[in-house]
Amino acid sequence: MSKKKDFLRTIVENDLKSGKYKEIVTRFPPEPNGFPHIGHAKSISINFGVARDYNGHCNLRMDDTNPTKEDTKYVEALEDAVKWLGFDWGDEIYFTSDYFSQIHDYAVKLIKMDKAYVDSLDEEKMREYRGTVTEAGKRSKYAERSVAENLDLFERMKNGEFRDGEHVLRAKIDMSAANMKMRDPLLYRIRNVEHFRAGDAWSIYPMYDFAHCLSDYIEGVTHSLCTLEFENNRDIYNWVLDTLELKPPRPYQYEFARLNINYTVMSKRKLLELVEGNYVNGWDDPRLPTIAGYRRRGYTPESILTFCEQIGIAKANSVVDVAQLEFCIRDDLNKKVPRVLCVLDPLKVTIENYEGSEGIDAPYYPHDVPKEGSRKIPFSKEIFIEREDFKENPPKGYFRLTPEQPVRLRHGYIISCKEVIKDAKGNITEIKAEYYPASKSGSEDTSGIKVKSAIQWVSAADAKKVEIRLYDRLFKNELPEGVEDLNPDSLKIIKNALIEPAVITEKPDERFQFERQGYFYADAVDYSDETPVFNKIVGLKDSWGKKTKEKKAAPKPQAKKVQIDGEVAPMSKEEEALFERYTKELQLNNEVANTLARDENLSKFYEEALSECNSPVSIANIISNEVARELKQKELTELKFSPKQIAELVKMIDDATISTKIAKDVFEAMSKNGEEPKKIVESRGLVQISDPAVILPIIEEVMAKNPDNVEKFRAGNTKLIGFFVGQVLKATGGKANPKVVNKLVAEKLN
Ligand code: ATP
Ligand code: MG
Repeated sequence: MSKKKDFLRTIVENDLKSGKYKEIVTRFPPEPNGFPHIGHAKSISINFGVARDYNGHCNLRMDDTNPTKEDTKYVEALEDAVKWLGFDWGDEIYFTSDYFSQIHDYAVKLIKMDKAYVDSLDEEKMREYRGTVTEAGKRSKYAERSVAENLDLFERMKNGEFRDGEHVLRAKIDMSAANMKMRDPLLYRIRNVEHFRAGDAWSIYPMYDFAHCLSDYIEGVTHSLCTLEFENNRDIYNWVLDTLELKPPRPYQYEFARLNINYTVMSKRKLLELVEGNYVNGWDDPRLPTIAGYRRRGYTPESILTFCEQIGIAKANSVVDVAQLEFCIRDDLNKKVPRVLCVLDPLKVTIENYEGSEGIDAPYYPHDVPKEGSRKIPFSKEIFIEREDFKENPPKGYFRLTPEQPVRLRHGYIISCKEVIKDAKGNITEIKAEYYPASKSGSEDTSGIKVKSAIQWVSAADAKKVEIRLYDRLFKNELPEGVEDLNPDSLKIIKNALIEPAVITEKPDERFQFERQGYFYADAVDYSDETPVFNKIVGLKDSWGKKTKEKKAAPKPQAKKVQIDGEVAPMSKEEEALFERYTKELQLNNEVANTLARDENLSKFYEEALSECNSPVSIANIISNEVARELKQKELTELKFSPKQIAELVKMIDDATISTKIAKDVFEAMSKNGEEPKKIVESRGLVQISDPAVILPIIEEVMAKNPDNVEKFRAGNTKLIGFFVGQVLKATGGKANPKVVNKLVAEKLN
């Protein structure tokens, strides 16, 4: 060990050197009343780690002295956790309950030495008699009971002759001790309940302070390492062992700082509340700081141990940033796991100049990892990309696909956008694209096309549908108290993500990096062949830090570097508020809302137009597309049209005076000469044609000209309806009302 030694290891080393002990024995002594958490991992790593480093032994001991809260399922969870972290406790698990007889005999011995007595004060009196930090306590009159009387009462307590709380056994130490814990501490209490292991053999159960030191002694423990809150209990620990004059060697207690992590609760009581109140889905919910939760989420034991090592062993309590734990897991996986492609929010892309299909060679470990392995990613005409990776009106520094900017498909070709297809609400439903055959990744790229980033994609015909579970912090506060601080958005389920087929069929590993998304792990419980489920282990970067820190400066465009992660600048508070209003209140889609909210000029323009005409979706569509495009070349003051005129234009769309297609022409005219939209429509005769009497003859003409298609349609190729509608709209110069045309064409053809 070349590392700087911590204070515990220094003590251990000195004790070995001085010959105080021949062999080091530590123990990990959890109470089986809940699932172990990351704090326990620290204790495990210290106790087992010290034993390992000095060729000693560490016992796993269930500290099961409280019969009402303990259970075998917690014992099993504790065993699992220690094993999973890679430690070995040897052949036997120890239980404090196995020492109940021995501990009882030590109590009898203390009574006989007149060092313990049966007290019968009620709880309130007992508290009163203890005194305060500044005032000495007062001994109970029952302390004068004779040894014989104490022995008799203690025996009858054991035999179940009294009710809970009627008597207790106390050490006779010092009611005026400065350390309040030494004011005649309780050694035994009556509990007329069954124990999960000892059954109904006992009506009395030893207190922690009595049982712990004796269990340590019985097992031959040398160093009893515990957390700081037991500092004041150390005097009792020593008093019991010294007073009983036990044969040496005896153990000594040393304290280290308890682990606390922000955005997390760590007491088993609070965790139990979350589990029993169904705030989470069981003890192994991947959002919990339990070992079972981390394990299910995909954390590795190595990363947890690295974390425990990094935080070190200190003597002062502090709160560790959860980002440090996340760093450790990210750092571990970065080196180990295969990188694959998965699309969480698919947007269809049709590559119009590609026919057929091929398999593109792609290494699983493309980054400086000395690991071999690759697969073929199927490529075909129809693919899906991440919706986020296309923007019609990109913010500054956006390096992915836009109408003007080509992008590379990771491991594959460069594509460029030819056409954006939208539905009636303005949502993008498809991109028509073109690929550059000479641009294939891995071969010499002779296409001459420059791109700034590579994005993930999957082939539509080959991709597998998967469920993805995304996790955020369970608590929204840095130092949460309990359920009132829960983060309502800690779990997001994506049902229809698409993944490249090799992940499902080849399963090259159990954990993956989904490129640009983060690290993921197949869910051990819910994964099935029909529904593969993946848990997000951790993101690629510390996105939380970004989110909480206020936007400081615009992100520097990383012009030269190919941007793999594709992060977009976070929104300011104001922008976020606008985004909320646009999506929730005004029902805009995310893309449009994002464009408007992030641009002060656009959002102002929008609000003004909205005050003239209450048609939030239509107005937003025009402003986020046409107006935004204008504003890329011009200043706000240079625009020839006003928000009010845009509102006028939208009114004409809404009352079907003009079609959305014509509206674009009108907009063109407005932006050139600033004329009123109504005037433009009137003077150019652009009013939408909705009259069937005008439209029907045109439909008949189109049908007469295309008898083959009419026949094919009637033979079952109903897709051809689009062809006829398109022809009719074209024939009217786009003035025919598409809805009316659609209806009439359908009637005529059938
Ligand atoms: P909790 O308050 O979560 O119930 P505990 O201390 O009562 O914790 P035990 O099961 O009694 O839990 O603890 C087993 C061992 O783990 C003890 O030695 C204890 O000191 C240690 N331990 C528990 N929590 C932490 C923590 N947050 N950091 C370090 N060690 C811990
Ligand atoms: Mg406890």
